[in-house]
Amino acid sequence: MNELLERLSAICGPEHVTDVLADRLCYRRDCGPTPGGVPDIVVRPESTTEVVEIVKVANQARKPLFIWGRATTFVDFGIQEGCIVMALDLMKRIVKIDLESQVVTTETGAIWHAVDSELNRLGWEMTVPGGGGMFSCTIGGTVAYNAVPHGITEYGITGGHVVSLQVVLADGTVIRTSSAANTDVPLSFERGANGPDLTGLFIGSCGTLGIITEVTMRIHRIPECERFLFYAFDTVDDCVDAAQAIQQRDAATFLIGLFGGPKPDGVEGEVFLHTIIRDNVGEAERRAQAASICCETFRGRAQDADGTRRYWTEHMYSWLRNTSAKAYYGGRPYFCPEVAGFLPTQALKEAVPMLHEYVASNADFARVGMRVKGFDVYFSPNAAYLWVDTLYLEMSPEAKEVGLQVRAEIAEMLFSRWMSPGGIVSGIAPYIMPRLGTAFALMKTIKAALDPHNILNPGVLMLGQENIND
Ligand SMILES: Cc1cc2nc3c(=O)[nH]c(=O)nc-3n(C[C@H](O)[C@H](O)[C@H](O)COP(=O)(O)OP(=O)(O)OC[C@H]3O[C@@H](n4cnc5c(N)ncnc54)[C@H](O)[C@@H]3O)c2cc1C
Repeated sequence: MNELLERLSAICGPEHVTDVLADRLCYRRDCGPTPGGVPDIVVRPESTTEVVEIVKVANQARKPLFIWGRATTFVDFGIQEGCIVMALDLMKRIVKIDLESQVVTTETGAIWHAVDSELNRLGWEMTVPGGGGMFSCTIGGTVAYNAVPHGITEYGITGGHVVSLQVVLADGTVIRTSSAANTDVPLSFERGANGPDLTGLFIGSCGTLGIITEVTMRIHRIPECERFLFYAFDTVDDCVDAAQAIQQRDAATFLIGLFGGPKPDGVEGEVFLHTIIRDNVGEAERRAQAASICCETFRGRAQDADGTRRYWTEHMYSWLRNTSAKAYYGGRPYFCPEVAGFLPTQALKEAVPMLHEYVASNADFARVGMRVKGFDVYFSPNAAYLWVDTLYLEMSPEAKEVGLQVRAEIAEMLFSRWMSPGGIVSGIAPYIMPRLGTAFALMKTIKAALDPHNILNPGVLMLGQENIND
């Protein structure tokens, strides 16, 4: 047994440390398309204390440490050959549900929907519903990535709902942020307390600056009722104008536009708008009327909204297109190298036609059997989050090459004009990080200050790529 394995086993117990090849092969990559290297060791701590000791060992050995929630993102930097993977799935306790301060505190590895289910028993829920990965993703990983959640139109981005964090820094220091930073009264209830927003530093930084071990999120009572609307439009411009009118009236909890890919089954039209409203009965009715008027003013035609309802209540994306999961995901294995990001709502009027033209004029699309899964938009309170989802045949190296080239070209096309991504995955990082200029330089300075030996997730967000032994 090598020395590193012995030291990690002493910290976590031998049952939570492995160097067996069959185990390590399962920790090579997240949902992104690039197979990573094989880690030397996988370690699964059960507590913050164990995380601290593991980080210290990795620092002394100058071994990169890759942090693993449930690997449901498409961050896709792959795991560096020979690193340590620290999987946080065993740290999954709900620490406290505090109805007085309206917050829930969990260990980082708690599954998003499992926490919401516990709150639901009490008639409560997290103030943001989580993203499409809610059944498998962890709270800590989702905050570290700052996922774009369902309900973003009313509730905003995931990170906005985080009250405080407990974080282990690269040297093993444990910090608490926000109101919980006060060591005499370490209470989690107010993000804006105690000076600069240190909580924000770790949201969206994808584990490059510290390891989140506990998260406190805001909670609220489950709204009284839900209403669903579905409209079809003949032009992108009309649909965009209707969506913006709905945004300006705060009429929707969640507004989703379908601007490309397969059209919803059995519906006439070119572009489509799903609206989900959650509120008390009176307000839901008022907001539904406002949303309908916005759609009809811009020539939208009301459709049966049962697909909208099924999407929301059954959590199956395919229902946005009136189809079951089988029809949507069946057939040959496809992979989706997505490009996604925020742009001004009105910019969709230029961006969507440009994407359609790009696909129509790219002969490689048809040659290697690529498809458009969707040009779908989650409307935020004041902007549009556009997912450009193209699909390539996973088993064909030629299709993969084209698929990744398409992702690069679309990233260049959108980031140079309007778009800023939310989560930054490896395939798009080279197209966005250099554009961040002095902001990127500041990120590098912070990384160097907090993690001088580049132990934590080196390479992610193009941070800490320098030689680990320097
Ligand atoms: C079916 C499906 C639907 C999805 N839908 C959406 C969606 O609607 N919106 C969206 O934005 N995303 C979506 N995603 C991707 C989404 O980002 C993940 O579902 C989730 O947010 C990541 O959680 P995770 O625990 O798997 O994190 P991981 O993938 O394990 O980690 C994400 C990043 O954070 C780091 N990290 C993990 N845990 C910690 C920690 N404790 N401290 C510091 N760093 C950490 C990791 O190193 C990595 O860089 C979807 C994924 C799937 C599979």
